[in-house]
Amino acid sequence: MVVRRITFASCQPYIIYPVRLFPDGNIPMKPAEFISENKEGMIKDLETLVNFETPSTDKNLLDRAADYLLKYVEKNLSCEAELIENATAGNNVSVRIGRGAVKKPLLILAHYDTVWSKGTLSRIPFSISDGIARGPGIFDMKGGLVQGLWALRSLEEYGRPNRPIEMLITSDEETGSNFSRELIETKARASEAALVLEPPQDGKVKTARKGIGEFSINVLGKAAHAGLEPWKGVNAIEEAARVILFLQSLNRIEKGTTINVCTVNGGTRTNVIADHTSLGVDFRVASEAEAKNVVKSVMSIKPNNPSIKLEISGGLNRPPMQKTYETARLLEVAKTIGAEFGTSIEDCTVGGGSDGNFCAAVGIPVLDGLGAVGNGAHAETEFVDLNQMPLRAAIFERLLEEL
Ligand SMILES: [Zn+2]
Repeated sequence: MVVRRITFASCQPYIIYPVRLFPDGNIPMKPAEFISENKEGMIKDLETLVNFETPSTDKNLLDRAADYLLKYVEKNLSCEAELIENATAGNNVSVRIGRGAVKKPLLILAHYDTVWSKGTLSRIPFSISDGIARGPGIFDMKGGLVQGLWALRSLEEYGRPNRPIEMLITSDEETGSNFSRELIETKARASEAALVLEPPQDGKVKTARKGIGEFSINVLGKAAHAGLEPWKGVNAIEEAARVILFLQSLNRIEKGTTINVCTVNGGTRTNVIADHTSLGVDFRVASEAEAKNVVKSVMSIKPNNPSIKLEISGGLNRPPMQKTYETARLLEVAKTIGAEFGTSIEDCTVGGGSDGNFCAAVGIPVLDGLGAVGNGAHAETEFVDLNQMPLRAAIFERLLEEL
């Protein structure tokens, strides 16, 4: 056994890494070294990907990025790569390495769409200053996507994948994955575990996520002149106010249930009794049982005024992802690898959802938040710490080898 030292800028002091000798006495390059030596390549890829604007709802822009990603993996990996076309949303890309292995595959999930609309780059261009990179979608989650691609490159070149590994890169995560959900669930059912490259929370991986749902409520009344014949009107805003207070009363913070009316639109003019109001409602739950309670309570709301009509639609979109015994085992492996690299991997629970929720719901363990270290998801302050990218990519590569 030979001991070799590798450095990562963010990780002091040197780490000691045991390697086996080739029969001819040469020391093979380790995947972590390959990643460490290719930091500039990772940054270049990050810049290229950020410079593809990819709002979830712009199919033309998304498809251009998907074509680029397909070419990228075909060029840099000897993998089975596939463009999975979608008539409405952007195309998805699937990459598979480790063909021929008999074990069930590991599923890596990444998304290349962002919450940023076309033109954002002119306001927030890709930039680097003091090891911090900025740009739309860089933290959520193009940084993680780049780390995943380099982990695969190094794994294939220098590592030992002992099972097939499939990476699915999707186009509509930020709008609820309505068009990729079935694909994700199908791949998840055939996989051993899912590893999600969403950004970590303050560097921590995510082992539990709340379930997320939405309701859309239309309150329909009757318009009338507010001064001349107010008795002929049925005020939809008055009824909506009651409904709002009822919805807010469903909050159960101690159980992890939150429900919030986040948008209200209604009425036409100040001298017309409002004939309609529409409410947009977000809710989050820690368990399926709580989801059922919320859905039942909301769906059974009846108007106080019998002349009002209520139209209620929606429900749970992403089921809760709970920390299971199998998830804890994945975390333990990640912690051990982190320790090898001289860093500690912690976990946390978050209120936000991801495609990891869908994988957990089909019964496979999920480790989420394995992406780039940074902060400011969905905010203009979004950034990633470039010095941490090779380290996180190397940890991710080792995870792919160990699981
Ligand atoms: Zn994301």
